[in-house]
Amino acid sequence: MAGDLERETTELLQQLVRANTVNPPGNERAAQEHLAALLRDAGFEVELLGRTDERPNLVARLRGMAEGPTLCLLSHVDTVLADAQAWQRDPWSGEVVDGVLWGRGAQDMKGQTAAEVTAAIALARSGWRPAHGALLVVVVVDEESGGEEGAVWLTEHHPDAVRCDLLLNEGAGAVFPYDGERMYGVCVAEKGIFRFTVTTEGVAGHAGTPWLGENALLKLVPLLQAIADRRPAFDLTDPPRALLAELGVPVDGDPAAALEAVRARDPVLAGFVEPMLGVTLAPTIVNASEKINVIPSRARLKVDCRTPPGMGEEQVRKRIAEVLGSDGYTLEFTEKVVGNASPTESRLMDALRGWVAREDPGARVVPTMLPAFTDSRTFRDAFPECVAYGFFPQREMTYYEAWPLVHSHDERIATADLGFAARCYRDVTKELLGA
Ligand SMILES: [Zn+2]
Repeated sequence: MAGDLERETTELLQQLVRANTVNPPGNERAAQEHLAALLRDAGFEVELLGRTDERPNLVARLRGMAEGPTLCLLSHVDTVLADAQAWQRDPWSGEVVDGVLWGRGAQDMKGQTAAEVTAAIALARSGWRPAHGALLVVVVVDEESGGEEGAVWLTEHHPDAVRCDLLLNEGAGAVFPYDGERMYGVCVAEKGIFRFTVTTEGVAGHAGTPWLGENALLKLVPLLQAIADRRPAFDLTDPPRALLAELGVPVDGDPAAALEAVRARDPVLAGFVEPMLGVTLAPTIVNASEKINVIPSRARLKVDCRTPPGMGEEQVRKRIAEVLGSDGYTLEFTEKVVGNASPTESRLMDALRGWVAREDPGARVVPTMLPAFTDSRTFRDAFPECVAYGFFPQREMTYYEAWPLVHSHDERIATADLGFAARCYRDVTKELLGA
């Protein structure tokens, strides 16, 4: 059976990779119709719901025999673009070489779409139906450009079609080594994004007599230096607290000591853990004078600021002021999205923990937080009771190998892991909805 799931997931992923869904423009319709036909044939009730004809979202439901929780297997079928010149193989070939499937979307996230859909189809074809509750398979469009036609539109316009209690999506799952152990991350939280522009003002003048003017760009120097030298205070939330405990360094008071203990054992992992502990500030864009011979009267610095789940604007401003001080500049937020989280313990976590214990004895499941956001954030906002996790298990490639391939060239996945993930979705679905 395991062999069949791997082969079928691999074939479906090849078909999905060959359907170019680079967003923009997305053009997901052909891929969605293909998936819809497969799910319909297997016995699912299928709807294609879109703001536009070219970009339908797929909602497939397998009803149970009694009332119970709805488990949703969520994914997105659009991808970011690929520069074929930079790739060793054609990004839309879906070629399999030495047990590895190459193509845009293999990791993010057509591989998971293929594993979820193949698992759902295998269950339905075998005659299985939920004993209670329902199984939902939702494949959205437009995740890579913010979800306005995808998860955001769907949860706003068709909440009853996609309302769910438990949800599995992207965000974590590739194994990572730590201190002689094997860890599988389950993403339980997404950080918020509070991007802002800092503006300094001066007096324009001739660049040949610089001290007669007042250079706004030079007023950014102390601000940039402050970002380089200082970090905002930690704001520890439940997910990293639980993670640090699992890593053997429970937090007692200040998380700094726990973080340093992780760093001493594994500096790479510490680089992933540190952003989970609070607000991060990354200056990325500066602009000032339009002309080389004119002293700028105004300079702007753009900062990508990411915040712990649940943190609102007032607290973010306070953390920024700790680093930048409060004088000599004005600050304007250009994007404000509050992050969110699901509980670190739940029936869904128990099911994933049990599955990993059976499939990879000795390995452990740990909660993680993504420093970016996925459609899980949208579903948690729409359905506050929903427990939404990111989990796409892989063990042929570690998290440190898989993460850099996302949005980059030579994206690829081991076909053995496609079978591994499909088995996970099949087994966990049966366990949660009844055999
Ligand atoms: Zn993605």
